[in-house]
Amino acid sequence: MKQESPSPERSDRWERNIYKIMRARLQSKGTSSAKRVMKRLAGKEKRLMKDVNHCISKAIVKFAVENNVSVIGFEDLTGIRTQTEHKIPKKHKYHHSSWAFRQLQSFVEYKAKLAGIITEYVDPAFTSQTCFRCNHISRNNRNDLKFHCEICGYETNADLNAANNIEHRTRDFRYTLESQGCQSITHTREMI
Ligand SMILES: [Zn+2]
Repeated sequence: MKQESPSPERSDRWERNIYKIMRARLQSKGTSSAKRVMKRLAGKEKRLMKDVNHCISKAIVKFAVENNVSVIGFEDLTGIRTQTEHKIPKKHKYHHSSWAFRQLQSFVEYKAKLAGIITEYVDPAFTSQTCFRCNHISRNNRNDLKFHCEICGYETNADLNAANNIEHRTRDFRYTLESQGCQSITHTREMI
């Protein structure tokens, strides 16, 4: 049976939640056949996410090429994990520390490099609490998926606000590169 590739638009969170629910059910059963099914599911999930990540990374790099983007910014999740993990709400924790996101980053980095685009990892500290419009930082600005600045009243999707802040920090890096006369085609992250 021919399986269709998931489109980049499809939410990986949604897909993974299905696996999460199935895993929890099987775990509560605890039988050996349940364990076998769990193992099979893990493999399926891995393949699905790889497929999704290939689609998304392809779309990201395509967008970057079409819009002459020289640097793609990601939040650097490596250093802050241990200090912040306990602060991440439980329902976001699974998504936040997932290997799938790291895989997406590595796929983008690889494809971007082939297109002569640099991938930069920026400090994600307070990106979700900072107002993109007025820079006010407060925990109260964020309420789950909604962002509402308590000072200037700016309202948007919380992920979009954080992404804009990451883009802003990436822009600082891009300006530094450009001021040094660097061309993305000839410089990779390792060379900087
Ligand atoms: Zn504001």
